[in-house]
Amino acid sequence: MVMNEWDQLKQHLQEWVEECRGTSAAGTVAEYIPELSKAKQDMLGVYLLGAQGLSISAGEAQIPFTMQSISKVFTLILALIDHGEAAVFSKVGMEPTGDNFNSIMKLELAQPAIPFNPLINAGAIVVSSMIKGANAAEKSERILTFFRELAGNSGLAYDEQVYRSESETGHLNRSMAYFLLDKGILGCGVEEVLDIYFRHCSIQVCCKDLARMALVLALDGADPATGKTLIPRRYVQIAKTFMVTCGMYNGSGEFAIGAGLPAKSGVSGGILTLVPGRYGIGVVGPALNPKGNSIAGVQLIERLSQTLDWSLF
Ligand code: GLN
Repeated sequence: MVMNEWDQLKQHLQEWVEECRGTSAAGTVAEYIPELSKAKQDMLGVYLLGAQGLSISAGEAQIPFTMQSISKVFTLILALIDHGEAAVFSKVGMEPTGDNFNSIMKLELAQPAIPFNPLINAGAIVVSSMIKGANAAEKSERILTFFRELAGNSGLAYDEQVYRSESETGHLNRSMAYFLLDKGILGCGVEEVLDIYFRHCSIQVCCKDLARMALVLALDGADPATGKTLIPRRYVQIAKTFMVTCGMYNGSGEFAIGAGLPAKSGVSGGILTLVPGRYGIGVVGPALNPKGNSIAGVQLIERLSQTLDWSLF
């Protein structure tokens, strides 16, 4: 008898998590934001939320972590809602860099002098500066409110310790922001934009929240519970395309071959991914590979995708 997908997941998900967990030993927990270094090296959790409301989780899916770069997908969407495509893409490009997420190297080489894409740090900082609001607090509040609606969780909040930790040590991001200010691409001052950026990176979630946010993308912007449009379909399309081309940074090509799904990683070890029309998925595994993506998380998603034939390609 051929098992259906949910039965396979129910039967094997825990076992796949345990098999992939072992690879964490070969990874490194991020230390450049001191507070992130406290995460458990071999933690691995996953939560899958189906379009019909079914869900399944395995491993340490309940443990909270900060969104970090995963937040960049949704601030991009909010900036698109605020200003439209033409305005956003006059300040940030659409091409992968092939460099690390925090690389400063190509900033000076780009013609026009705008960051290559909205998912590298420099691009996300520009996007943060475009969010509408009277001041940093109001802009951050709009971001948090939007994220809460997408996650279906009015309790989403900042991890203040991670926020402070990055704010005190994020000098590479600070230097990028000064460069962008000099080029006239920042919509506000350096400390204001960094406050907005560090705050959305430090929003605390668990795998279920990521899965719910991912499911909205999987459903072309519709609220899974009510069907209400939370994001215009065109902006979901743009976000998913960036997730495929740049979502795993300079590991995006390898991930497209291995899993073939839109995804976005963060240095806390989170990965948000989705199967269009079917699943939103949240994964966490803090030990990272050299590209800054969760080593066990990538393996788990590749395993799921290959076993269940989810690749888009
Ligand atoms: N807050 C992190 C930073 O700016 C986000 C990077 C990431 O998650 N890759 O360095």
